Parts: sequence; C-alpha cells; structure tokens
Amino acid sequence: MNRRDFVLSGSALLGLAWASPTVLAQSLAPRPDKIVPFELSESEWRERLSEARFDILREEGTERAHSSPLNDEKRAGEYRCAGCDLALFTSDMKYDSGTGWPSFFEVIDGHVGTKTDFKLFLPRTEYHCKRCDGHQGHVFDDGPEPTGKRWCNNGLALKFVPS
Ligand SMILES: [Zn+2]
Repeated sequence: MNRRDFVLSGSALLGLAWASPTVLAQSLAPRPDKIVPFELSESEWRERLSEARFDILREEGTERAHSSPLNDEKRAGEYRCAGCDLALFTSDMKYDSGTGWPSFFEVIDGHVGTKTDFKLFLPRTEYHCKRCDGHQGHVFDDGPEPTGKRWCNNGLALKFVPS
C-alpha cells in the first residue's frame, strides 16, 4: 500500500465511523414508503371501477352525504384507496364529524397529495391518492385535536379492510 492509498482508505474509514450513527438513525426512523405511480388509461379505469367510483376517483365527483356505509364503520382496520389499494388512513385516525362523509383527523404520511380546487366560490384543498392520483375528498381546518384537520373523504373512494 502506498502513502496515497493509505491516506484515502484512512479518510474513508473516518468517514464511515462518522457517518454510521446517522445512517443507523435514518434506517430506524419511520419514513413513508416509496410510492410507485399506478397509471391506467381512461378505458382501463372504466373497466376497473364501478360508474359511481369512476365519477368520484377519476372525475372528482362527490357522493351524497350520509350515503356511505363507511360512516358507521367502527372496526379496527385500514382504509385503502378504491382505485389502487394504497392504505390512506387507519381506523385510529377516524372520527365522527357529523357531516355525513367518512372523516379522519390524520392521513398516512406521504400517501396523499393535495391541490387547490376552485370549483366552488371559496378555494378548497383537494386531496388525492399519491399512487393512482384518484380523487378522495377535501381537507378542512375544523377537525379535532391534535391535528385540527378534517380529511373529508368520499366513502366510495375507499375500501375498508378490517384487521
Ligand atoms: Zn390510489
């Protein structure tokens, strides 16, 4: 080993020794899964979804209030996107908002994206599944503690999977 190699491997070792606690901390910290986009053509979506689900997920429709059986769902489990099966909420994040739509005060980190929607007079924050882009609902700032958020979701955009 010549001197140059020695210096290089010495600094590489030092670098490793310095970096390892950080690398370890990162691997232990919870982080959102890497989301691989799920994309289909319009006709493939029509084939995959019922007309009512297509209207909500792909056309940003809204179901009638109090129409979803998921309003009264109280079992432990996961609420997954009806388009691609990505888990968006768990039963511990659900609460009864009295609005007639399944409501959650928190969402699984990194699993939804948001955008501003100007369909009504006042702008609202629309959110959608991060994997298939399917429209889920709107998020408001009148939810309960600890987040103060109300994720107001179309029941038809979700599938409940009991644990
Ligand atoms: Zn999805």
